Amino acid sequence: MDFARPLPEYLITRFHGWQATTYSQNKGWYKRLADEGQRPRAMIISCCDSRVHVTAMFGADQGEFFIHRNIANLVPAFVSDGEHHGTSAAVEYAVTSLHVSHLVVMGHSGCGGVEGCYEMCEGHAPALEEKTSFVGRWMDILRPGYDRLPQGDDATRKRALEKEGVLVSLENLMSFPFVRAAVESGELTLHGVWNHIGNGSLEVYDSLSGAFHPI
Ligand SMILES: [Zn+2]
Repeated sequence: MDFARPLPEYLITRFHGWQATTYSQNKGWYKRLADEGQRPRAMIISCCDSRVHVTAMFGADQGEFFIHRNIANLVPAFVSDGEHHGTSAAVEYAVTSLHVSHLVVMGHSGCGGVEGCYEMCEGHAPALEEKTSFVGRWMDILRPGYDRLPQGDDATRKRALEKEGVLVSLENLMSFPFVRAAVESGELTLHGVWNHIGNGSLEVYDSLSGAFHPI
């Protein structure tokens, strides 16, 4: 594998800084994590977007969150076809092995994946409609959300689609038998949230009102 190169200097420098401070000042905590294994209370599914920083937002330490990130924080519906399903594998492990108490799906403002889905559904992004587009086929998960969008201008509808992505994912989560069983037994609760990156706010979906409300 002669194509794998050494890390760039800036990452090496930052790592050594972390090792000399955060790690060395909390060695006992890290040893305990290593000896006892992880016992995260929550799983968070968020976008790959570099601006979405769930550990910083919730002040989480190492070992607290089981995090899965993918394009547009989507969960596909349950299918049992023997193929590779990264998101479904992460959900299965979190629920059936780690027994997390909370599963949070976090959407965000200005999501490029959601915007791509919107343009594709509007017929403005033929490249995303190609069978060979990994992003396009992944964003197919969100098509039911597009179909539910209210009338309005593009900016309003794109923002609504970001929140629909959270709802579609919550609905799809319940199609996994082990998720539904854990929810119905009270072992697991599902949560939908949306982060406005620019103003630092967080909105939580309230199933009673059927809307997202700031906390
Ligand atoms: Zn995104």
